[in-house]
Amino acid sequence: MQESDNDITRTPSATTPLIVPRPEHGISRANISANALKVLYRLKQENFQAHLVGGGVRDLLLGHEPKDFDVATDATPEQVRQVFRNCRLIGRRFRLAHVHFGRDIIEVATFRGNGESEAEEGERCVENGMIVRDNAYGTIAEDALRRDFTINALYYNIQDFSLIDYADGLADLRAGKLRLIGDPEQRYREDPVRMLRAVRFACKLGFSIEEATERPLFELGHLLDGVPAARLFDELIKLFHAGYGLDVFEKLRHYGLFALLFPDTEAALACEDHDFPITLVSRGLANTDARIQAGKPVTPAFLFAVLLWEPVRAGVERMVAEGMQINEAMTQVSAEVCVRQQSRVAVPKRFSLPMREIWALQPRFEQREGKRPFRLLTHPRFRAAYDFLLLRAEAGEVDRELAEWWTRFQDASGQERASMVEGGARRRRPRRRRRRKSGAASSNGGGESSAGAAKGAQ
Ligand code: ATP
Ligand code: MG
Repeated sequence: MQESDNDITRTPSATTPLIVPRPEHGISRANISANALKVLYRLKQENFQAHLVGGGVRDLLLGHEPKDFDVATDATPEQVRQVFRNCRLIGRRFRLAHVHFGRDIIEVATFRGNGESEAEEGERCVENGMIVRDNAYGTIAEDALRRDFTINALYYNIQDFSLIDYADGLADLRAGKLRLIGDPEQRYREDPVRMLRAVRFACKLGFSIEEATERPLFELGHLLDGVPAARLFDELIKLFHAGYGLDVFEKLRHYGLFALLFPDTEAALACEDHDFPITLVSRGLANTDARIQAGKPVTPAFLFAVLLWEPVRAGVERMVAEGMQINEAMTQVSAEVCVRQQSRVAVPKRFSLPMREIWALQPRFEQREGKRPFRLLTHPRFRAAYDFLLLRAEAGEVDRELAEWWTRFQDASGQERASMVEGGARRRRPRRRRRRKSGAASSNGGGESSAGAAKGAQ
């Protein structure tokens, strides 16, 4: 960014924004996606205002590649639909137009107002301080001030390629500061997800959270209880699947927000007297971050398997100690943990079922005799479960030898596999006899108390 000195000293306000003309800022059309440009030009052609706004502008100014491009306009969603054939209107709480270009979607939002005019009554609905519907349209100035952070309220105007700043966002961008527009507490009450967005942008951009914006994060976490569980799932994916999940985890814990999202996990982490559980979560998140940075695929099933494992592990261990068969304990405890978690964060079945399979397969890694390892290898969830086993080994929860055995077993030829299994079976036999004598509780391969079992199997 390179606004003139005069401009820098001005404090913008809703009525007199700071306008940075085209030659004085670093945004180039060459860095804006062709589809976003098409939408902007087309709206302009139809005599509507059209601006790039939000993360796209922020990230371009910071020299990052934007994740997506959002457009703001004075056209209503219905008018946007009339302009673009490839357009769908979505959202009830916040009505938006999605313009589709194959898999690419450009989100077009109509300027929001404060809903104070008579015509708009009912379009903006606030219950107990929380915005439950926000469809009152307004001017660009009003739109800017209802956005969350100052750095997210910068507009790139397709009319003259200038940058418009109503909220002092450029100064904050330059200072690396994350600042909510308006009264922070009120803004968090309006939409508690903004607390999670604060953490997300702080981690993503490496920005510090300005003091008044930061303080309520320690106090208002309980407001997340009022957020629909499905929206929290979406937000958690954005938090943990963007390549800086470990940093997010640490910050969420720092503000006490993690405990509100994952109460069972937090309770289990808090009462541990040794440190492998936290190691497992941290390592799992670091592995996910590394995969994302390497462009490898990640799945919410594995992420939630990591985030919720600790209460499952502890619960299964307890039940096995009380004499329950390990597979039964696993089924029961994972069902309980999932039901409790579901009321906070709604993990869709297509992810929660494979997540539970990843857990359920863990004790089966202990069974290395006969046909069992061959059967496990062909299980559709083997790979994810094996990755999870590696994580448990890295965290010191199971013996490394077990993980290494499975690594070798996968790569081995048919003949080598047969000899590995024979070896494994031969070594296991005496131990199994000993275990029968010592009672039913530990006679099932012992996935959860597996460090000892795995050692014995060597
Ligand atoms: P990114 O897309 O990189 O995650 P972003 O800032 O573009 O970041 P989006 O969720 O795409 O985030 O939202 C686009 C813009 O809409 C934001 O920059 C902000 O101006 C506004 N916005 C989004 N969510 C909220 C919210 N909960 N409260 C107020 N404004 C919001
Ligand atoms: Mg965006």
